[in-house]
Amino acid sequence: MAAASAPTEVKRHLPKRNSIHRPSSDASRFHMSKAAVDRSVEDVAKWTDLQCVKHLANVRWGSFKVIGCPHCNAHDEHYWSSKELRWKCRGCGKRFSVTSNTVFAYRKLPLQKLLAALHLWASGAAGQPALELRRMLNLGGYNTAFTLVSKLREGLLRGFHTGLVSGVVEMDGAHASGRRASEKRGRPLTFKVNDPEEAQKDALLTSSARSKKRREEKVAALAAGGNVHPEHGTVFPASRRIAFTLRRRSGAKGKGAVVTRVGIGLAETPDVAQALVDAYVAKPESILATDTGTAFKAVGKEFQLHLAVNHSDTLVGPNGEHVNNSEGFTARQDRSEKGVYLNIEPKYLMDYVVETAFREDHRRVAPGRQADRALHFALNIGRSQYWTNFTHGRHRDFEILRPENRPAKASGPAKGRSPVAAQNGRAPR
Ligand SMILES: [Zn+2]
Repeated sequence: MAAASAPTEVKRHLPKRNSIHRPSSDASRFHMSKAAVDRSVEDVAKWTDLQCVKHLANVRWGSFKVIGCPHCNAHDEHYWSSKELRWKCRGCGKRFSVTSNTVFAYRKLPLQKLLAALHLWASGAAGQPALELRRMLNLGGYNTAFTLVSKLREGLLRGFHTGLVSGVVEMDGAHASGRRASEKRGRPLTFKVNDPEEAQKDALLTSSARSKKRREEKVAALAAGGNVHPEHGTVFPASRRIAFTLRRRSGAKGKGAVVTRVGIGLAETPDVAQALVDAYVAKPESILATDTGTAFKAVGKEFQLHLAVNHSDTLVGPNGEHVNNSEGFTARQDRSEKGVYLNIEPKYLMDYVVETAFREDHRRVAPGRQADRALHFALNIGRSQYWTNFTHGRHRDFEILRPENRPAKASGPAKGRSPVAAQNGRAPR
């Protein structure tokens, strides 16, 4: 472009009354700043194997030199083989790599791809679909991508999502998973779009006939495995869950919440609220903020103060009675479920809400650091308990629920000797 002939631009200032002023929030200021980007997929893809191992060692142990042996826990400067990119323990003499005894043990994926996948996973605001990950990185198959992010989620579930929260803690429940029993895309299941006759018939029913019809629908929904809401009597599909959030307010204006704990219940009932409070909140020194739901009434008495906001009157009470930070979590979880992961199996819902909790708590952390944080947990919880041999049919056989887990059918292929393995003479697993 010719710099000499600078266009003579007439600067026009729109009158103030025509411009819509939106004050920038802390979040948007962060995302627009330089601090929001620290590393790229390209960067990690270019790393040498040694650079990758050094990075992983630093994330796992905080050092590349003095580290703990995964076999015998000896803390030492172990023998390093730059050819094998492994160590030999000075204590027990066994060899180990940077991923030994972690969820990524026995990985086949090159470390560059693992780190690139992690970076992409951390870059998504509401989540990162495994299929998309596979397409972007040309991972072997869907299962490779799916087990990778699932193991990452397991790291968060067993590593990140632990410990008590204290201070002002907001608690709220929100519907998750499972379509409402009586509706399909917002319409009752019995409503047929292309059947005006049916709609007319429904409109002509007397009120008693209509309520009889609704009762029959309820019975049918129950027969199909639906659950009845303990308060309202509405029937929900069997796959419906309530995702509970416990969020500690930061205490600083405009900074939102800082620590998040989550849990899944079958309904918004006092036993679920009690179990979650017992597991995650320091009592009685904390302050509980909830809505006026009956689930929180009894448990609120165990706190020094229970702030309850009546949502039919207002969203924010005069004395800090609100659950807006919990609603913020629910908004992200909704985007995650409806826009990214789609049709989350109730059995794995807990894994996904923990991921959302992690994303919420790291919403103003650049993706590279966020990936390292998640990786740190994945490398420090030992072997994967839920995803080892997933592709061979070893699926988790319980659902993580409050107040207690319940058995869930393993949905993978049948275990035992497969016809091909039998032909090859392999022993059954
Ligand atoms: Zn050792």
